Amino acid sequence: MPDCLFCKIVAGEIPATVVAEDDQVLAFKDINPQAPVHVLVIPKRHIANTATATESDEPLIGHVLRMGCRVAVEAGVDESGFRLVLNRGPDSGEAVPHLHLHVLGGRRLAWPPG
Ligand code: AMP
Ligand code: ZN
Repeated sequence: MPDCLFCKIVAGEIPATVVAEDDQVLAFKDINPQAPVHVLVIPKRHIANTATATESDEPLIGHVLRMGCRVAVEAGVDESGFRLVLNRGPDSGEAVPHLHLHVLGGRRLAWPPG
């Protein structure tokens, strides 16, 4: 998708600190971390968000979730705990319209979220 920030990261046009990758998904450190562990997991193929995703996107979105858990385990926060977040729309603070899963951990996370 032209002019999509995360498509440009997938294409290597914008640098990112990649922590995990396979043929379908990319995991990289958030540029403005909100916790000691803050990684974004994205599908390499552009999907706008979970609300507009189709049935055919389900395996890929499931794969994004599994990669998020793998990243958390590899970052050493599985026992202490972590949070997976998908923002959608203005009230959530969504800023980048390419589906991305936040993996947050390494500190006590407030609930309900702010
Ligand atoms: P959201 O608010 O859910 O759309 O999250 C977008 C996230 O992307 C924010 O946490 C940003 O800090 C992060 N972000 C924006 N630009 C970059 C970048 N170039 N590399 C890594 N993370 C980024
Ligand atoms: Zn994109």
